Parts: sequence; structure tokens; C-alpha cells
Amino acid sequence: MDVKVFQFNGCKKCFNESLLLKEGVKYKVEFVSDPKSWKGENVDVSVITGYLLPNDLENIERIKNNSKKIIAYGDCTATGGVFALANQKGHDVTPLSSLIEGSKNVHGCLGEIEELKLTIDGTGVPKLKSLCQVCSRKATCDYLESINRQIELEDSETCFNDLGFLCSGFTATECKEKCIDYNTPCRGCKPSIDRSGIRMLAMFGTLAGNIEIATEHSVKGATDKLGDEDDDLTNSLPDVVGNFFRFTLPTSGFPKGRIPSSGSLLEDVFIGRLIEEIPLITGLLGGAKSISLTLKFIESYEKANQIEVSEQTKKYRNELLQLETDLLKAIESEDAPKYRELTDKIRFIAGNMNLSNVFYGGFKSIIDPNDDFNEYKAHVFDVVEGTYKNGSIEYTLDQTGIITKIKISEELL
Ligand code: SF4
Ligand code: SF4
Ligand code: SF4
Repeated sequence: MDVKVFQFNGCKKCFNESLLLKEGVKYKVEFVSDPKSWKGENVDVSVITGYLLPNDLENIERIKNNSKKIIAYGDCTATGGVFALANQKGHDVTPLSSLIEGSKNVHGCLGEIEELKLTIDGTGVPKLKSLCQVCSRKATCDYLESINRQIELEDSETCFNDLGFLCSGFTATECKEKCIDYNTPCRGCKPSIDRSGIRMLAMFGTLAGNIEIATEHSVKGATDKLGDEDDDLTNSLPDVVGNFFRFTLPTSGFPKGRIPSSGSLLEDVFIGRLIEEIPLITGLLGGAKSISLTLKFIESYEKANQIEVSEQTKKYRNELLQLETDLLKAIESEDAPKYRELTDKIRFIAGNMNLSNVFYGGFKSIIDPNDDFNEYKAHVFDVVEGTYKNGSIEYTLDQTGIITKIKISEELL
């Protein structure tokens, strides 16, 4: 079967992962990294990766008209994904299904190659369990006494939400990358229901029923809006869009955002996000360079704020950087077995290809059962206002830990 994989905009991680289609002899795969220059020829299956903008329509239509089947592989293409957070600031990152009819979706950030194969074959992905069904933590759904942006990761049995630590597992399906196994809450890259963000927000809001929230009355005397004044709930959830709608903003049903753009789509993804969420954003969208990009952010913050880093942490980080260099070579030479071997090694240290295990000060879960985890265990860190710089990136945090300014180029992905 002829399969062509087309990369559009932004992160290339799903595009690179599709190298695994070359394992075995089932598919004749070709990779097109510049769809504009593709002349068009008959294809059995076209796989689209990367985020899309309305002006990609012409190229998408040419691909569709030449293909028996067209698949959106990964959240960027299927739902807008993490880049669509820029729609909050007026951009128009658009899911494939809003540009053309009849496409199939493979959700996930990273999209799962096993599901892509089943979709190419036409077998379809079997019904998936909910993420909570496969999670080792158990929920009580009791009211919360507080909401916590960071927690000490000592308890491995209690649902993150019961600890006041937002997890979107209630509205996600089981997944391969499984952030929750690395003490990282789910942000919902594989939604189990439509408009998952708003439903998760409603669920979490219900759990927060005991927490003080400011309301204001209108001139007519009724209490008709949440207050502009700070309260415990508003303070605890300073980035509702980033945390609840990280992967699904264009399909959330919300109108387009009205916050002014910085002028750069990538920078607009980062502005408004929280410092503790950054490793999980750079780990997602950093393409083949997600490791070095994530460590650039983390290490600039650690250095400026004297966060201690152990020798063991440095050793594991250096191993990851070496693996990234080797992975780039494997991608360049389209060496699928090597790609699998190296990504397995990255997963061993970083937890998954989203780098869920990588954090400020160390790692969130034990890497090797022979290790003394106390030597590299990450702890809750202080949020410190300031400007942080590391080579090609520079970002400014306000006192809440929100990114207010950033300089970063798409060439880093
Ligand atoms: S951001 Fe996520 S969905 Fe988009 S290409 Fe990268 S890994 Fe895939
Ligand atoms: S909400 Fe998250 S932590 Fe809680 S049970 Fe579900 S997946 Fe696990
Ligand atoms: S645990 Fe992580 S990989 Fe799995 S659905 Fe949630 S965000 Fe996606």
C-alpha cells in the first residue's frame, strides 16, 4: 500500500514518528516535508501531520483529490493541538476536518503509531477504556479544601484531583504515553468525549465547591458574574485555557480569543502559560529537539533561582541530550529500527516522548529500580518573577508564574 506522509506547520514529532511505518514490508512510505512543492500523484493513503492554517487549504485539497484516504495524525492536525492555544490571541489554527470532509483522526500528542497503522489498514481503533480505568490512582470525588499547582509526589495511590492537583483523566482515554505514570497529570491529549475541556472544567469546578470564589452583583442587585477581585479559586487556576484546553481549543465551542497577538504564533502559544507547565509544553511541541528545548527552559530557571541539581540528574540529562543527537541522525537517514531503539531509550529516562518525567531540579519518578531516587527526585519549587535567558530563548514571568513575554523561534523545533 502506498502511503505518503505530509508535514505542514510547527512540530515534526508526529511526522518523525511515522518513520515507524517503514518497519516491515506492509507499506511503501514516502515523506513529504514541503507539501507546497508536491506535484500530486495517485496515493492510497495520505497522512497529514503538523498544525494547519486556512491558507493550507489549496495544498490539502490537492492531496485529498489524489488520495483514496486522508488521515489527520496527531492532535495538531486532528483538533488544532497545542499550537491552537495561539487562537486565544487571534490566530486561526484549524483542524483538518474543518478544511475538508471525510478525513479520519488519530488523536494524541504524540499520535500513537499503532493507531495510525490500524487507521491506514481500515481496521479502526478498538474502543478504548477511559484513562481513569487504567490509572493506578483512585478517585473519591470528595470536595477539595485547596487547589495546588504543584505537589510533593509522595502518594502514588490517590487521584491527583483529590489532591487538588488538576488532572484531565476524567475526560481522556487510555494512551501509550501515559503521563500519569510519571507523576504528571493528564492534560487531555486523547479526549474521550466531545468538548472535553469544558466538561473537565465543570467537573473540577464541582470538586472546588468548598473553595472561596469572589462574585459581584449587577446594578439590579443579583449576583451575576464571577468577581474581578482575587479569590482562592481564581488564584489557584491562573491559566484555565492552557490547562483545560491545551489540545482542543478550536473544537471547544469558544469564540476566537481577543487577546492581542505578540506577532508570532509560537510565542503566542507560550504567553499566558504557567512556569510549572512549560516542560510539558516544550516536551510536546519541541519536535526532534524537544529534549534540548525543554532543558534550556528548565536550566535557565534553575540557574537563576539556585535550584540544586544533583550529579545523577546531570548524568541522566546528558544521556537524554546524546540520545536526541543520535535520534536526529536516525531521522535524517530514515533508519526506522534505530529510531525505535533510541525512542525506547528516551522513554526509559524521560517517561515518554512528551518528557513527562523531566522537571525542575530533577525527575518526577524513579528511572531505574537500582537507583536511589532521593538523589534526583524533583521537589516543589518557588515561583520567582523575573526574566530568564538561555542561548536562543528568553522569557519573562510575572509574580504568579505566568509567562508574559517570550522570544523563541520556530527554527528551534
Ligand atoms: S505538537 Fe504533538 S500532535 Fe503536534 S506534531 Fe508535535 S507531537 Fe504531534
Ligand atoms: S483523574 Fe487522573 S489521577 Fe485521577 S484516576 Fe483519573 S487519570 Fe488517575
Ligand atoms: S496522560 Fe498524557 S498522553 Fe495520556 S491522554 Fe493524558 S495528556 Fe495524553
